[in-house]
Amino acid sequence: MKYKLLPLPYAYNALSPVISEEIMTLHHDKHHAAYVTGANAALEKLEKNRLGELPELDIKATLRDLSFHVSGHLLHELFWKCMVPASGADIPDVVVQQLNNSFGSVDAFKKQFSATAKSVEGSGWVVLYQTPQNELLLSSVEKHNLNHLPGYTPVLALDVWEHAYYLDYKNDRGAYVEKWWEIVNWQYLATLLTTSSHA
Ligand code: MN
Repeated sequence: MKYKLLPLPYAYNALSPVISEEIMTLHHDKHHAAYVTGANAALEKLEKNRLGELPELDIKATLRDLSFHVSGHLLHELFWKCMVPASGADIPDVVVQQLNNSFGSVDAFKKQFSATAKSVEGSGWVVLYQTPQNELLLSSVEKHNLNHLPGYTPVLALDVWEHAYYLDYKNDRGAYVEKWWEIVNWQYLATLLTTSSHA
């Protein structure tokens, strides 16, 4: 198997001014691309090891590498889809309902999500998961691959690595997170909540 870097689902400048064309270009073409390359490189090493061509391979380090790069790749694929040029529209009912059920209200959810984003130490993500019981809960993922909740489905992800915002917001991650709400693709979240629904 091989991982593939898909194009963004919109133009590089489509999310400006919330996220600039420069960030989107670097983020997708350099950072995301590097995770795809890294994932494929790790897979290749493991395959060679199985074939006896790399008998000295450090399996532990290679699997750690694989986890980091595959998680980085998958989270970026989700992240691009979680954004849309003009999110303006109302939040779909299914999203409002599930946020109300799990967080009390949409505002309470946004507040906790933003606080989570600001609390991530160093490089990481805020990820909203859906459980098989249709409940939603947040995790702050360190790097790309620590603190995941196995078996739960990531349905909304915000990248808070510095490469995601530094050129536009400098050290003000809080400002980035607050602006990010303007480009959230609620419709896509609604689609995920509906298709993965176990109700
Ligand atoms: Mn990133």
